[in-house]
Amino acid sequence: MGTSIPAAQCSPAADGSARRPCHAEDMAACSHLDQITVTQLPDSVDGCEDCLREGGVWLHLRICLECGHVGCCDDSPSRHASAHAARSGHPLIRSLEPGEVWSWCYVDEVGMVIPQVTGSTRIPPSPMLS
Ligand SMILES: [Zn+2]
Ligand SMILES: [Zn+2]
Ligand SMILES: [Zn+2]
Repeated sequence: MGTSIPAAQCSPAADGSARRPCHAEDMAACSHLDQITVTQLPDSVDGCEDCLREGGVWLHLRICLECGHVGCCDDSPSRHASAHAARSGHPLIRSLEPGEVWSWCYVDEVGMVIPQVTGSTRIPPSPMLS
């Protein structure tokens, strides 16, 4: 405390192109937050939509914050959340597990909490654990 941060440190680049928030490393070094279209989580989901279609099983559920696709985590056999991100180019997911509020960017490989994403989702128990 005491000394204020000189505003000059936060100035955009001379050509005006750099509009990254300063001190971004403090929280999220993710440049894809403007791609989020899902800010209200669904009340409930039936499970990983790809596993349900293919007859597979999942461990943990993740939701795509760009299109709402529900997929399964990397500890699940089919890793549908990662597969969806790779196929669609949608970088951001959020955990749907009870009590978990974190999100993850596959492109920047950074975890974060995104406050504008609200709600909580009822999910069925993992078929791998039952
Ligand atoms: Zn990102
Ligand atoms: Zn799946
Ligand atoms: Zn998506």
